[in-house]
Amino acid sequence: MNEERLSKRLETVASYIPKGAILADIGSDHAYLPCYAYLNGFISGGIAGEVAEGPLQSAKKQISKSKLDSKIEARKGDGLEVIQPNEVTCITIAGMGGSLIRSILENGKNKLPGVKRLILQPNIGASAIREWLIENDWELIAEEILEEDKKIYEVLVAEKGNPLKPYQHKEQELLLGPFLLKEKNSVFEKKWAHELKHWEKILSQLETAGETPDNRTRKEELKQKIKIVKEALQ
Ligand code: SAM
Repeated sequence: MNEERLSKRLETVASYIPKGAILADIGSDHAYLPCYAYLNGFISGGIAGEVAEGPLQSAKKQISKSKLDSKIEARKGDGLEVIQPNEVTCITIAGMGGSLIRSILENGKNKLPGVKRLILQPNIGASAIREWLIENDWELIAEEILEEDKKIYEVLVAEKGNPLKPYQHKEQELLLGPFLLKEKNSVFEKKWAHELKHWEKILSQLETAGETPDNRTRKEELKQKIKIVKEALQ
């Protein structure tokens, strides 16, 4: 992977960047995504945000190597603290867990004015992001699920709007994704068949463990998720 050829995962993220956007790629690491997006005419400029010094230096190196110093700026900081309100029109956050992406959005809420689109790629825990989007009036407008190098990734795309529009059966769709559930492609089926097996194994271990309030709650949660996924896979 480099600034000219992205992974399938990041290419999917890039495909949702609106033409002409000013992008903030948060947790940019090597800055391949913003460099690729500029070199392919998706964005007119952007910011690569990084909290860690090593990845920040890789981002700076990559931006210079691509001769994009006047177009893309690498900034050090936690989450959205690297941007100002109305500075960017699109934010990408990729390659992290859903709960970390959710907390970056929550902590940086005051930086979101002017942002028209969020493109979020959680490695796990996409439901935490779907919940945050609903709570904060962002409407999910598209979702993708893909497999690369034996790992399965989801991409969530949201714009300001009616947050409940894509949902009809909220509990099921929060977990599985309203668009992904409707499409039910082979990667979706593979992911949830695998999760189902995993949860059933944990549940059977919990069934043999001693009964505690925590244990009981955990079992109930697992049973509910198993029920939802079984219904979806029927
Ligand atoms: N976005 C790239 C991708 O998808 O290939 C890099 C993903 S890498 C696994 C996660 C990056 O996010 C790391 O470079 C890490 O330093 C950065 N990161 C983690 N938490 C962050 C935060 N709160 N603010 C900014 N960057 C963060």
